[in-house]
Amino acid sequence: MTTAVDNFADLGLSESLLKTLADLGYETPSPIQAQCIPILRDGHDIIGMAQTGTGKTAAFALPLMETIDIGLVKPQALILTPTRELAIQVAEALQSYAKNLPGFHVLPIYGGQSYTIQLKQLARGAHVIVGTPGRVMDHLERQTLNLDRLKTLVLDEADEMLRMGFIDDVEWILEHTPEQHQTALFSATMPEPIRRVAQKYLVDPKEVRIKTATATVAAIRQVYWQVSGLHKLDALTRILEVEDDFDAAIIFVRTKTATVELADKLNARGYAAAALNGDLNQQMRERVIEQLKSGALDIVIATDVAARGIDVPRISHVVNFDIPYDTEAYVHRIGRTGRAGRTGNAILFVAPREVRMLRTIERATRQPIAPLTLPSRADVTNRRVAAFKEKVGAVLDAEGLDFFANIVSQIAEERDVGAEEIAAALAMMAQEGKPLQIPGEDPAPRSPFSDDRRPPRFGERDSRPRDERDSRPRDERGQRPRFEGHGDQPRFESRGERPRFDDKPRRPPTGGDMVRYRIDVGRDHGVQVKDIVGAIANEAGIESRFIGRIGLYDESSTVELPAGMPPEAANALKRTRVRGVPINLRPDEGRPDSGERKFKKKPFADR
Ligand code: AMP
Repeated sequence: MTTAVDNFADLGLSESLLKTLADLGYETPSPIQAQCIPILRDGHDIIGMAQTGTGKTAAFALPLMETIDIGLVKPQALILTPTRELAIQVAEALQSYAKNLPGFHVLPIYGGQSYTIQLKQLARGAHVIVGTPGRVMDHLERQTLNLDRLKTLVLDEADEMLRMGFIDDVEWILEHTPEQHQTALFSATMPEPIRRVAQKYLVDPKEVRIKTATATVAAIRQVYWQVSGLHKLDALTRILEVEDDFDAAIIFVRTKTATVELADKLNARGYAAAALNGDLNQQMRERVIEQLKSGALDIVIATDVAARGIDVPRISHVVNFDIPYDTEAYVHRIGRTGRAGRTGNAILFVAPREVRMLRTIERATRQPIAPLTLPSRADVTNRRVAAFKEKVGAVLDAEGLDFFANIVSQIAEERDVGAEEIAAALAMMAQEGKPLQIPGEDPAPRSPFSDDRRPPRFGERDSRPRDERDSRPRDERGQRPRFEGHGDQPRFESRGERPRFDDKPRRPPTGGDMVRYRIDVGRDHGVQVKDIVGAIANEAGIESRFIGRIGLYDESSTVELPAGMPPEAANALKRTRVRGVPINLRPDEGRPDSGERKFKKKPFADR
């Protein structure tokens, strides 16, 4: 990776933040951080062209935290995000960076959450507000949110806000914030309306973009697995177990902490694995690489910096356990395999929010990356049974079984059992702690109602049974992961997917019954189809692809949603507003109002 700055200390961050970053296991700034942090520290406005996975959150959050006056419990920074999931995620990131900043308070506010709770939290005060545009606008209008002391305003994922129909709200907010503040706008793409907003509201902004290095990586088989349903660690071990030509692997993660944790986990599962990170001195580093070469180790878990220049021909697999920050890092990582004329395999784990980064990588390497279907439990079991049979076969072919055959005869006589049963008992003994079968079931397909096991919203008490509170996927033994220090653990897994309109036109709802609902907003309210899709996707946690046809009439509209909507989602939708008008969602009784015209919803690209 060619990050010009290798060190957070060189970016002018305070000692306290540097300590926090070290505690979190952050080794080096990502390219977007290396570029943005000094600019923001110098007080400039900024346009950052970056997407999820590049480390953009820390790029704006770290300099922003340095400006906060803890003694003043008033909103000094406002971060606008397109969805509540992102609002929560960003708020959590800030909270983690505030580890050594006692008294720091960040508050996420978003649609769908009870006003009573929000009003209480706002009255209690916060230094940073992270919110979705509609709800922030609401609170500004009600004067329950005061931005008089605002120093920094961040528009995160501006293009997503545009796609979801929030751009007017964003502009309204920009109009109603005090003039004197620093503004940072982050967007993966720069469509014209976003450019226009930037021109109108940012003062002499510096523009920063991640460069996309193109490179050919011919001899390498590239596949990706979209993280869902199973913990990454379990997915990893399943994949490694069934990969045909597995010899040795480098697994890339983001933090130093994660290298050590993952190495421990893999060792516990019987792999010969070790961590390789910037904390190791040159001698220790060389030792790890030597062991990988000699076969004493099969897996090395590394950060980008630590893995620089590794040349070990037996590396058959590179696993991007955490997605790289940019294409350059990707190309560099996968270049560790396929060496000395051998073919290599590159496996990329992609969280739902990181799909855009996957596409960027495909474009940069000019190669499609094929989706990988996770081996099923049966696949893994078959593999293990085949390996077991092979092992038994090898022993059967060997000399010196007579002594043991004699013992088996004795047991058969003494216990009056057949040789088959004794063999089964011995097989069980041999496999103790190394089960051939994976208990449990393969993950079920996801529900369209991504919110139906809703985690607590920030600041809310969680009333669900203890076991349901943890939304992280269970592992193969039915356990929740114990470490969560790094990267893209899908903590809010069931809600991690945000509605996406960009990748491709939305598919029609995938099977299942649909129910038609009526809502009290229509063309007379200036409402467009995208406003309705955005509001429903966001407030009820229904992925946009599951939203069916929308009929837009003068005073009302109809929308088809999958049957079996949980009451919580239905309630959230009753209270939802579009363009300030409560939609009052209810099952459609059938008769359209007079004079109404009906439109078939078009894919976003046509709208
Ligand atoms: P983002 O692109 O902001 O969504 O960040 C993606 C992930 O990368 C988050 O889980 C961060 O905690 C992690 N991350 C961001 N910057 C760094 C860094 N410099 N070193 C290690 N991890 C990082």
